[in-house]
Amino acid sequence: MTFKSEYLARVYDDVCKRNPNEKEFLQAVGEVLESLEPVVERRPDIVEAGIIDRIVEPERQIIFRVPWVDDSGKVRVNRGFRIQFNSAIGPYKGGLRLHPSVNASVIKFLGFEQIFKNSLTGLPMGGGKGGSDFDPKGKSDAEVMRFCQSFMTELSKHIGADTDVPAGDIGVGAREIGFMYGQYKRLRNEFTGVLTGKGLSYGGSLARTEATGFGLCYFTQEMLKCMKGEFFEGKTVVISGSGNVAIYACKKATELVAMSNFNGYIVDPDGIKLDVVKQIKEVERGRIKEYVERVDGATYTEGCHGIWTVKCDIALPCATQNELDGESADALIANGVIAVAEGANMPSTPEAIAKLQAAGVMFGPAKAANAGGVAVSGLEMSQNSERLSWTFEEVDGKLHDIMVNIFHNAYNASKEYDHEGNLVVGANIAGFLKVADAMMWQGVAY
Ligand code: NDP
Repeated sequence: MTFKSEYLARVYDDVCKRNPNEKEFLQAVGEVLESLEPVVERRPDIVEAGIIDRIVEPERQIIFRVPWVDDSGKVRVNRGFRIQFNSAIGPYKGGLRLHPSVNASVIKFLGFEQIFKNSLTGLPMGGGKGGSDFDPKGKSDAEVMRFCQSFMTELSKHIGADTDVPAGDIGVGAREIGFMYGQYKRLRNEFTGVLTGKGLSYGGSLARTEATGFGLCYFTQEMLKCMKGEFFEGKTVVISGSGNVAIYACKKATELVAMSNFNGYIVDPDGIKLDVVKQIKEVERGRIKEYVERVDGATYTEGCHGIWTVKCDIALPCATQNELDGESADALIANGVIAVAEGANMPSTPEAIAKLQAAGVMFGPAKAANAGGVAVSGLEMSQNSERLSWTFEEVDGKLHDIMVNIFHNAYNASKEYDHEGNLVVGANIAGFLKVADAMMWQGVAY
């Protein structure tokens, strides 16, 4: 990474030395620091207060053993993580990921991104993230329950409705949140809004399940309209992944032709049938390739990388980090893509982003485009605090307004800091400034 500012170069160098081998975390920090060049030029007070030195270091990191017993009676051990990154503007807030690829670097990059994303929503939420290298795939419900109970037994010591409020992420949906909530309640003897993404019968919010995918489409719609006078309607869309974010983005993106999962991708030239995908992925917890056995004319290709070669107007990467690389960006550009908006966290590599932006493709970065999930989590916290439930329309309407505001905040910041239309820079700056201001007011702890 090269920086114009000597100060930023020094901060980045320190982060590299302190976190060797954490490539995802260094990638996320590098991108934010690069965006902050114009802030550093104009705001010596921020530099003087050491805000950037402080913001790249988590307030607290918890790593713990998660022992559990499988169905055959064998003892298994996984590793649990919770990174409490920044609490300047509210309690730590961010999801829990259960996937074999989880390690300190992945959780730290996600926690770091979450600071700015949560700030962009305009709601009072700090940044955190957690998870484990446990793989829920192929496990029975009873095994998942025993794992979740053991995980929460330790995590419960560190979280609370006014301290840290986790939610779902990859591998953590309604089933896992339910098991974890039940265990927290047993251990603490309190019924509070300590987790979001809960079931409707015990404090969940309507529209939380749909929030990230719907929010992504609301953001994309505003970006298309304001930056190029375009509309979502009639545009061909490709979405990677087939989990929570992908499925609900799919519900709004009517002309969807391709979706994927870990093993490969499907193309349906007549438009993806969402009810079939939901049955396979949400009900049967099966593989996306089963779609072609149920729908005539659809095809399946092994390997998920090739999905970006499918011709489309709009691409929405909604699976995982670094899934869209430079080569994929070349293929999308050659096929005439007009917009890419990130449903997953950091799905595009820096090379891909540079290529897309250089080709004039509208680019909606994850921090802004997928903030709808955490925004509705914030609304779930509000409902829990007032012990009331809002209607679907009420929550969806607030989500829509939040996503439109996020676009305009990011766009306006990009303009104010001389990078008009660069939403990566705009989202990073807008998210950062609010947190920086709160940190300045709260002083340095000695
Ligand atoms: P899910 O577990 O519901 O779905 C994840 C999807 O991505 C699955 O289809 C999975 O395939 C696929 N996938 C996972 N890892 C890989 C990989 N290495 N290569 C290719 N495909 C992969 O998770 P979510 O939909 O909740 O999360 C998806 C992304 O969105 C993540 O980056 C997450 O951090 C981000 N996000 C989620 C939010 C939420 O509210 N849930 C909020 C904001 C961001 P398979 O089915 O084979 O496992």
